[in-house]
Amino acid sequence: MRYLSTRGGMAPQQFCDILIGGLAPDGGLVIPEYYPTIDATTLAAWRHLDYPQLATAIISRYVDDLPATVLAELIAQTYTAEIFATPDITPLRPLMPGVHILGLSNGPTLAFKDIAMQLLGRLFSHVLAQHGATLNILGATSGDTGSSAEYAMRGQANIRVFMLSPHGKTSPFQAAQMFSLNEPNIFNLAIRGVFDDCQDIVKALNEDAEFKNQYRIGAVNSINWGRVVAQIVYYFKAYFAVTDHDSQPVDMVVPSGNFGNIYAGHIARCMGLPLRRLIIATNENNVLDEFFRTGVYRVRPTAEVQHTSSPSMDISKASNFERFVFDLVGRDPTVVSQLWRQVREQGGFDLRTTPYWAEIAQYGFVSGTSTHADRMRTIRWVYEHYGDIIDTHTADGVKVGLEYRDPAVPMICQETALAAKFEAAIEEALGFRPPRPEGLDDLETLPQYVEVLPAEAQAVRKYIVDQIES
Ligand SMILES: *Cc1c(COP(=O)(O)O)cnc(C)c1O
Repeated sequence: MRYLSTRGGMAPQQFCDILIGGLAPDGGLVIPEYYPTIDATTLAAWRHLDYPQLATAIISRYVDDLPATVLAELIAQTYTAEIFATPDITPLRPLMPGVHILGLSNGPTLAFKDIAMQLLGRLFSHVLAQHGATLNILGATSGDTGSSAEYAMRGQANIRVFMLSPHGKTSPFQAAQMFSLNEPNIFNLAIRGVFDDCQDIVKALNEDAEFKNQYRIGAVNSINWGRVVAQIVYYFKAYFAVTDHDSQPVDMVVPSGNFGNIYAGHIARCMGLPLRRLIIATNENNVLDEFFRTGVYRVRPTAEVQHTSSPSMDISKASNFERFVFDLVGRDPTVVSQLWRQVREQGGFDLRTTPYWAEIAQYGFVSGTSTHADRMRTIRWVYEHYGDIIDTHTADGVKVGLEYRDPAVPMICQETALAAKFEAAIEEALGFRPPRPEGLDDLETLPQYVEVLPAEAQAVRKYIVDQIES
């Protein structure tokens, strides 16, 4: 399997070459040269695999430059009951007749990002060791990504993580999750500013090519291909869990922000998994809902991004969306380059008058928006009728999913975080705090390890250099 850029400007590369990089050198996103299709016999055989076996079967189709035994071993170390609280890894539970909740949030940080990030940490560490190299991951987080990256990279040889978060502006639970880590390779930097300041600092340091090369600065953001590929697995696992034979259609509901998760669903569908609809649920920041309803992709200026009670979906643009558009325009990199020139120059594009818009229906996407009031109502309604406490992102999914409910087709709603992670919003909806998984009751009282710095790239740069050189 070779990898290309959506904009056509990258010589074909193998998995390990693109694993640690972010954007392709031409500014595009890395994509596999094709999606391997799965025939009926293989699909039937996969039905009986456990999570690590299924992950190995799927991911190995995209990785041919690691020995099969090494890949299988890294996967086996990742998807364990110790790390994900259950041997099912992504357990399914009934919500109401024909509607299921897919639990993707039983990893160490209680959000679905752990599923990919836990594997990524092990893959990074292995590939770096092969080259005798080290990597310093620099990131900015408003909550989920930062903690997920830190828990995945903690204790990994050859990797340091420098994670910027806005001082005093993450939830106490999220802050405690990150800051309570006492690991020599994890550095929490609380920046006196807002999330955008953190992102600007990361951007400024990344634009300093000399600093980046000298100090081997990398990222683990949501465009990383390794994260996407690991997410394909649970679409298959969940499909098998709600069907008893391989021709039954299933609808999948995905709370979406950067289009990473649901793009993995698109790949699963292209590989031959009988997913009928891929239902995109957005919050008030509904760039994606707008596109799938109207054919107009309109990136929001940062000032227009709303801070909502499903904060992990608060995005101004959907970074992985370019990968889907590459497929939509017949995998033509010239068209993608031209569309993203329009994004840069005019803030978006309109496909309605192009032949591509007529093709969109075949991909199975439908979409909807959920607001704060919808979220509160859905959390309350689900609790009162079914006794289940769902988090705010999952509630956006359930709200939009039920608008598309077809009793003839099983529906799976992805649970992308546990309610415990967003206590304040749950308390607003239900009048009480959700229970926490065992062992986390005293999280906020643990000692915290964090450096508070001013919102200045220079100060962050100096801190990083001092740590690396010490
Ligand atoms: C990151 C995140 C999402 C959005 O996922 P994308 O891959 O960016 O679409 C949804 N819910 C939660 C809880 C998340 O952390």
